[in-house]
Amino acid sequence: MTASSPPGAPDRFIPWRHRLSTRLLVPLALLLLVSLLAFLAFERAMSQALMEQALAGSRLFAETITSATRHSMLEDRRADAYEIMRSIGAQPGIDLVRVFNKDGRITFSSVPGEVGVVLDRTEASCRPCHEGARALSDPSPQLASQVVESRGHRALHLITPIHGDPRCSTSECHHHSPGGQVLGVQEVVVSLADADHRQAQVRWFGLGGSVIGVALLGGALAGFTRRRVVEPVAALLEGTLRVARDQLDLEIRVDDRGELGVLAASFNDMTRALRRVEGDLKSLNLELEQKVEARTSDLRRAQAALVQTEKLSSLGQLSASIAHEINNPLAGILTFAKLVSRQLDGAVADEATRATMKRNLALVEREAGRCSAIVRNLLDFARERPLKLEPVDANAAVEESLQLIGHKLSLTGHRLERRLGDVPAVLADFGELRQAVVNLALNAMEAMGPQGRLLVETRALPGGQAVEIAVEDDGPGVPAALLGKVFDPFFTTKERGTGLGLSVVYGIVQRHGGKVTVEQVLPHGARFVLRLPTAVPGPGGDEPYGE
Ligand code: ADP
Repeated sequence: MTASSPPGAPDRFIPWRHRLSTRLLVPLALLLLVSLLAFLAFERAMSQALMEQALAGSRLFAETITSATRHSMLEDRRADAYEIMRSIGAQPGIDLVRVFNKDGRITFSSVPGEVGVVLDRTEASCRPCHEGARALSDPSPQLASQVVESRGHRALHLITPIHGDPRCSTSECHHHSPGGQVLGVQEVVVSLADADHRQAQVRWFGLGGSVIGVALLGGALAGFTRRRVVEPVAALLEGTLRVARDQLDLEIRVDDRGELGVLAASFNDMTRALRRVEGDLKSLNLELEQKVEARTSDLRRAQAALVQTEKLSSLGQLSASIAHEINNPLAGILTFAKLVSRQLDGAVADEATRATMKRNLALVEREAGRCSAIVRNLLDFARERPLKLEPVDANAAVEESLQLIGHKLSLTGHRLERRLGDVPAVLADFGELRQAVVNLALNAMEAMGPQGRLLVETRALPGGQAVEIAVEDDGPGVPAALLGKVFDPFFTTKERGTGLGLSVVYGIVQRHGGKVTVEQVLPHGARFVLRLPTAVPGPGGDEPYGE
């Protein structure tokens, strides 16, 4: 089983004690420990059994010696008895056969040179009967045994007391009183080297076998678990982590026909399905983006058309007043032109007539100039141009707007109040800004009665982030219920209204990254406020339109 590793370290670190491999290794280690303990218990039981077997064998030897030598001893044929002991002591596995009297003097030994040696009561051979170096255990034991380490191996010392026999008590050979007194001790030392050797062999073979067996079994089990459980689970885990990180290009390969293989296959099915869904979503998104783009450009075109329509509508309103405005200079031009013409029809002009003609012609020139300026202004207002944002003096735009509506104002008789503050340049399109102000001013003039007052105000917001242009009137104001609707396209309460004036203002302010709001003025009136970002943002807060 393989799975490509993700770049970087895994997302979630699993502490070693919680890892699957640790959890599988712990029972394995326990199994090893239990096997070891079981073997040690077995080895101990076997060692006891071997010892009992050795003890039984040694007793048999000791009893054989006693019964084989009893007859010779009773008849005081010591040489015969010693000969029997010597030949038994030469048997394989017998280290030593010896006899010593009650004074501890060795009277016979199968080891040459020991005869005559006196043993101390603290010697290993005397200890079973003379515990604590006292005279003799009472009653003296029939048989005693102990295991002693000597000559590089363990040996079983079997001590058999030799009691006085009634058949012997009358004999001349022993100077002792009758009654079962201990005459001496027969000691048989049986080597445990062979038993120990066999036990060691069993121990090491058993231990080695168990360790090798458990190691082989454990290794096989660990290898199997690693290959069949730990690695597939790790691959699945890595897969889930990568899917969580939105990396769906992952295929997990698990060579297993069991549950984990099925799990990996369904995981792959899932990532494939997710990839498909993601692809569908991407193409859907792309399609949506293209549609939004197409609709946006449609909207932009519609908006431009709307602006132009509204501009023409404003132009219609303005032209009526401008026609009146142009009429006066034109009448003047006509009168003075006729006058000059009549003067030219007369006799040769004297110096005074020529001066009058010159003055009249200057008046014609001035009035024609006025007409030309008015028409130029109108043409400039009507011209369609692409949006061009640049630092613009808001007061200048307001002034030009007021100039455009000035003729209408003089007709309606409304009072104009300017409160133009010291404002920084705004980032705007001059023509569009002017159109927005004209639209608001025309609406205000339409809303007001004959004695109305139009207030146009500019001010810089604290922090220097934005400039506010307010157009206020003292008309009836916008009813509270309509406050949220007046900027909707085609919303109008006027009989012959288009409902486009405010929506065009809204579009212009949006394109400038600004805001437009409407408020009610007390006791009556409406106040429309444009907030536009300055060309060079001031050091103030983040919100350019802070209240
Ligand atoms: P129109 O002027 O063609 O109606 P607008 O979009 O300019 O279209 O205005 C929409 C509506 O908003 C108007 O019909 C009017 O009801 C209201 N409105 C606009 N300006 C004012 C104002 N200064 N005072 C009161 N109402 C206004």
